[in-house]
Amino acid sequence: MKEDTQRELDLIVAQVKGHLHYQKELGIHTLLTQGTRKERLNLASIRQELGECTRCRLHEGRNHVVFGEGDPHAALVFVGEGPGREEDLQGKPFVGRAGELLTRIIESIELTREEVYIANIVKCRPPKNRDPKPDEIQTCLPFLMRQLEAIKPRIICCLGTFAAQTLLGTEERISSLRGHFHPYKGAKLMPTYHPAFLLRNPQFKKDVWEDMKRIREEYQRR
Ligand code: URA
Repeated sequence: MKEDTQRELDLIVAQVKGHLHYQKELGIHTLLTQGTRKERLNLASIRQELGECTRCRLHEGRNHVVFGEGDPHAALVFVGEGPGREEDLQGKPFVGRAGELLTRIIESIELTREEVYIANIVKCRPPKNRDPKPDEIQTCLPFLMRQLEAIKPRIICCLGTFAAQTLLGTEERISSLRGHFHPYKGAKLMPTYHPAFLLRNPQFKKDVWEDMKRIREEYQRR
């Protein structure tokens, strides 16, 4: 083989290796087929743009940015408030006690965590699990918006007051928001009680079950 051709081949191999390494760093571990490439790269590029974010003060005390996880094509997305202690340590949403309950709630409608997508309004843990402040929400929200645009779910389930009020732009109470779908940018949005609230107030579990049955019915519609 000519020296020039060999050099060119070496260069191509090095470029392919570099690209695969870059994809792996973005969390893409399988080769993408044409149909899935655009959407997956989209979520990955949102994650990449978020980076090791320092846009608001919440970065000061965090261990990990908790971006979200699940199926990038999920028809159903759950949105919580923000990472707690365990989520901050692991870099994954809803993996503490409230997360275990959320897993059971998802399984109650015959789905798995892998089949849905789970994200939060803010991606860094507020100190001592305090409520996120308005400026922190405003800074972080564009990333959730773009995640939702990339995933294009048919159904969004907001977990708790914070997520519901933020996405719906209302100050109405969760007790009156829950129980029915709200139109949201072409999707159907169901607010329900937050699993952490359910751990403290198990008498509200039956309401969540009612909300989940409505979600299951809508999910199975297509
Ligand atoms: N509570 C939330 O709102 N989100 C999490 O990820 C964990 C607990």
